[in-house]
Amino acid sequence: MRERTPRELAALIAVIVGMVSGLVLLIISYLSSLVIPLPSLLVFVGITFLLTFLAVFFLLERVINSKLNLIYRIIHGSKEAQEKVELNMSEEIFEKAQREAVKFAKESREEIERLKEQAEFRREFIGNLAHELKTPIFNLQGYLHTLLEGGLKDDTINEEYLGRADKNLDRLIELIKDIDTITKLESGADSVVLKKVDIVEICEDVLDAAEMKAKSKEIDLSFKKKYDPLFVKADPGKIHQVLTNLVINSINYGKEGGRTTISFHNVGENILVEVADDGLGISDIDQQRIFERFYRVEKSRDRHRGGSGLGLAIVKHIMEAHQQKISVSSVEGEGSTFSFTLAKA
Ligand code: ADP
Repeated sequence: MRERTPRELAALIAVIVGMVSGLVLLIISYLSSLVIPLPSLLVFVGITFLLTFLAVFFLLERVINSKLNLIYRIIHGSKEAQEKVELNMSEEIFEKAQREAVKFAKESREEIERLKEQAEFRREFIGNLAHELKTPIFNLQGYLHTLLEGGLKDDTINEEYLGRADKNLDRLIELIKDIDTITKLESGADSVVLKKVDIVEICEDVLDAAEMKAKSKEIDLSFKKKYDPLFVKADPGKIHQVLTNLVINSINYGKEGGRTTISFHNVGENILVEVADDGLGISDIDQQRIFERFYRVEKSRDRHRGGSGLGLAIVKHIMEAHQQKISVSSVEGEGSTFSFTLAKA
């Protein structure tokens, strides 16, 4: 059944009171044999109705306003607490208030869930971070202690240990840089600035910079074929980072004497960029998780211990900020292909 508005309620009460008082008057006149003319009776009933209506309406308005305003203030929070909510007495205000209260409870529950998830995520992030920092710091401490406790004068180990300490320091710096990058990307402090850029030229720069590293494993870095300039809408620095992370991974997890190939494909409004290697490959289960922060495939931990486990998480963030996607297809033992799209400029 539809809920009555306060105005209808006041009218209903006034009708009842008007009729009852008319009836009472009729009974009194009958008992006292006093004749009350019909017009006077109607005027009396009318006036009773009007006065009752005004009194009840005024009373209801006051009570409802003071109670519901308090509820609305609680629901809408402290910002609007000073403002008085104007209630329309010809509306179904109780039903409306109930709807708002249910909505408020639902939103509060969702907010609590979100905050819980964030707290869990933060705990996990800090746990992972401590774990990642521990190894290089303890290694560094070990080498420095050995050197200080006499190793410095031992020519058979001093240079080697200093070199190893330096490598661990490099790893720490890389890790801190990656954490800084991902934190800025996540907080939105480092937003993408889209420009018209030649993606072929950016890839050339990335391949040139990775040449030395590739040579150490005799990996051949090349384009699939010769490409003319291809203009896309992208943040050049960030896409450079995406390609660097993908190419460096293809070397880290590539096989000695293997090859990494970059190719471009026309896909409607977009250019699809592919970085393919013939290295280790990634199992189907791991493919679903490698874009998570700090996730590393167990087997590759032994082969390459240098990475922060953040490289692909950074790649994913940057692609999301471009409103584009990154995906991987891979067969264990045969190789992996990472692909992402960019809008044509
Ligand atoms: P990491 O710093 O460990 O390289 P990434 O986020 O870049 O972290 O990569 C996550 C994991 O994904 C790596 O540890 C590795 O196991 C796997 N991976 C990434 N790229 C490749 C690839 N080209 N071939 C095989 N495995 C890869």
